Amino acid sequence: MREYRVKRVMLLVAMVGALVAGTCQAAVWSLDTSALDLPGLERLKREPGVVDWMELGDRLLVAGEAGLSLRWQERGLAASEVRGMSDLEGTVLVLSKHSGVERILAKRTRVIAHEGPFFVIRPSGPALNRLLQEADHQLRFVRAGRRTVVFRSPAHLARVAPASAALAPIAGAIDKSRYTETLRKLIAFKTRYTYSQAIQQAAAWAVDAFKAAGCEAKVVPYSSRGKQLPNVVAELRGSARPDEIYVVGAHLDSISWDSQNSAPGADDNASGSAGVIEMARVLAGRKPQATIRFVLFSGEEQGLLGSIALVNQMKSAGELAKVKAMINLDMIAFDPTAPLDVMLEGKVISHALSDRLQAAAGAFAPALKVYRTDNAWGSDHVSFLDAGVPSTLTIEYEYDGNGNEHSPKDVFEICNIDLAVAILRMDVAALAELAGVAGK
Ligand SMILES: [Zn+2]
Repeated sequence: MREYRVKRVMLLVAMVGALVAGTCQAAVWSLDTSALDLPGLERLKREPGVVDWMELGDRLLVAGEAGLSLRWQERGLAASEVRGMSDLEGTVLVLSKHSGVERILAKRTRVIAHEGPFFVIRPSGPALNRLLQEADHQLRFVRAGRRTVVFRSPAHLARVAPASAALAPIAGAIDKSRYTETLRKLIAFKTRYTYSQAIQQAAAWAVDAFKAAGCEAKVVPYSSRGKQLPNVVAELRGSARPDEIYVVGAHLDSISWDSQNSAPGADDNASGSAGVIEMARVLAGRKPQATIRFVLFSGEEQGLLGSIALVNQMKSAGELAKVKAMINLDMIAFDPTAPLDVMLEGKVISHALSDRLQAAAGAFAPALKVYRTDNAWGSDHVSFLDAGVPSTLTIEYEYDGNGNEHSPKDVFEICNIDLAVAILRMDVAALAELAGVAGK
């Protein structure tokens, strides 16, 4: 009798369960939101029946009721169902600074979404464990939060206060042929591997380049694995607010899996290093009110060694609290597919800085499409962010499709100089605005 009653209750539970599942069966869709403006996108996320979402540029992953896709179709929004999923629980966001991630993932798990440089996966426990063994300072796996903006596309950026038109001559002073010449000189070192003699020579050459540009400059060494490694530090001292410091940096070192004697590192990262030197040339002689420090790091490829060392040195010298913002340039010259595009990568504390970069791009590099993310990873801005300094990385949007980095194939010919120039116009104008440089 007792057993019979339990069975009856179980049957009832099963029937109710089936009924509930029938009315609000859950599914996950991948939705193209490029036609929506920002208010439209935000409304869609709040629609009844939407349980969870993840924004990846112009793609929105949505978990919710089965009927949702019909409503979207009526409004002309293209949605495809992500097979075998009913929620976004257990999804993992892959943060990487290099291409080739797809191959690593393909061996272990299924990719649910791949937009821009980001991948979303939902690996099994054992698969995640194996992937975590492949993680390093340039590849990271993080639990994807609920209702998360992974990155935002140009179509959905919030408006920011415009940049002053007075900055136009400063942005316009970025010289494509001078930049190209500096870029070629850095590539000509053939390698700038952190533990090579060549990095010392490249650093000494960079000191002279900064001096020729009109800055004070020197090698500031730090030690790692018993070796003295070079950071190059150049400065324009502030005329009115010298104790307010803005840092702009790039890593000078290169690496190659094939041979450390053949690591031209054209895009990664002669492109950014030459950019910092060109910015110094443009800003020198314009008497910034605040202090600007131009830094070329070594040891980035070995785990941000140079930038961590510099942050610690500035902390010891009582200078770190004076640093108001840091702009990092890493890989700014790869863009095979029109339009020109850039990612501004920081954290929440970087928002005001990224706003000024976005404004500068809008005013002085209007052809440049700007993407933004708060998922900072894998380059020297992270050292500053970890120390609480607002910091933003400006990086080519298409690095995920590069495939030449960290090899002898990272040569001048793969570079898109127009992208680098557009990014430099944005960077130098934002920096000039922050540091109080008069345009004339
Ligand atoms: Zn790099």
